[in-house]
Amino acid sequence: MNGVIKSVCVYCGSRTGNDPSYANIAKQIGSSLAENNFKVVFGAGSIGMMGIVACSALSAGGKVIGVIPEHLDDIEITLPGLTELYVTKNMHDRKALMFDKSDAFVLLPGGLGSLDEFFEILTWAQLGLHSNPIIIFNQKDYWRPLLTLINHIIEENFSGIECKALYQVADTTEAVIDILKSSKCDITPAKPELF
Ligand code: AMP
Repeated sequence: MNGVIKSVCVYCGSRTGNDPSYANIAKQIGSSLAENNFKVVFGAGSIGMMGIVACSALSAGGKVIGVIPEHLDDIEITLPGLTELYVTKNMHDRKALMFDKSDAFVLLPGGLGSLDEFFEILTWAQLGLHSNPIIIFNQKDYWRPLLTLINHIIEENFSGIECKALYQVADTTEAVIDILKSSKCDITPAKPELF
């Protein structure tokens, strides 16, 4: 069953990288999501790209849902003023709750944690657990090595070409918003026996 996308999970760095344009994009994405009435779901931290996306969405009048595990509550310094905040027992519960609260997923520049989150949601789509849109924001071609790796995996026949249908690539904020507006989300309840 398909529905309109209302909430968007943003996976991104707990750092801002070495070029100020990364932070600029985080700011732009946060405000654009809010201006287009998309609720933002994120890891609740006030640091790095994640903090900038959330602050920017809140400043633009948007709703922001944060999900943080107990053990990171201090380290990632939970952002105050969130619309909703959930503290989970562990990372697994955090990622599952972020999944439950989101109709679509956007990967911004980030590090290993962002990649882990991205691959989990991508492989859940591969296993047929959901069919929600997954967008790789390839700002400054940051994710080119990731796209090259996926091509390599297909060339070496460890995945079929059809895995490319599981995600879309955008290189501007406008393109991300266009995809979100023109896509549908999966509102079929997840298959509990598979979780
Ligand atoms: P990073 O991209 O490494 O800066 O991490 C971005 C977000 O991913 C942060 O909210 C981290 O808490 C989270 N994160 C870091 N490591 C992991 C991991 N192994 N599994 C899931 N999330 C992680």
